[in-house]
Amino acid sequence: MLGFLEKVSNYTKEAISAAQYLVDGLGVTFDHMRRRPVTVQYPYEKLIPSERYRGRIHYEFDKCIACEVCVRVCPINLPVVDWVMNKETKKKELRNYSIDFGACIFCGNCVEYCPTNCLSMTEEYELAAFDRHSLNYDNVALGRLPTSVTSDPSVRPLKELAYLPGGIMDPHELPANQKRAGKLPNQIIKELQAEKSQEEDKKNSSDMVSNKLNSTN
Ligand code: SF4
Ligand code: SF4
Repeated sequence: MLGFLEKVSNYTKEAISAAQYLVDGLGVTFDHMRRRPVTVQYPYEKLIPSERYRGRIHYEFDKCIACEVCVRVCPINLPVVDWVMNKETKKKELRNYSIDFGACIFCGNCVEYCPTNCLSMTEEYELAAFDRHSLNYDNVALGRLPTSVTSDPSVRPLKELAYLPGGIMDPHELPANQKRAGKLPNQIIKELQAEKSQEEDKKNSSDMVSNKLNSTN
């Protein structure tokens, strides 16, 4: 009889602690339901890269003079400049140019020192590939311009940390009416339009005043 009572007592304790865990888990779920979202819903939403973002390099074949400065300033001598000497004209003839983004550290030295500015860094960061050899871009692949996050109709561009108010990195305990730090592109466009119409109104009123003054004189 004593053993049976002990079993019932243990079972009740386990049932109570299981219920406690369940309540704790639901508490976390409900807590999350009243928080602001902090994740970017990639690939439907994307953060707008900063102006000087060092992404995939863009290359203009027609501007390249095959001087190989980019190779010399690269910490790993990465760019491959394939050229031949034309004996008749005594000038270099560029055949191919490639950069292996599987090895590139995106330091930007080649872009900085290129004498003809035929290299530039783009905002493209999506370089995932199944085969690392496919990251070796030739001049055709390097010449392709990336689609800007702000002009891609299939994604919603977000300013960095647009979801959280200024200075707050943790969404816990955040009042629901707190102002956001960043602005969404449509909010920025609305503000710019409002500013423009205000400027136009000001200009029109000053024109009217000057016209009146001229007519009285
Ligand atoms: S530094 Fe510029 S111009 Fe010279 S080889 Fe490199 S990419 Fe071409
Ligand atoms: S970004 Fe840096 S590592 Fe990459 S190719 Fe240019 S110089 Fe080399």
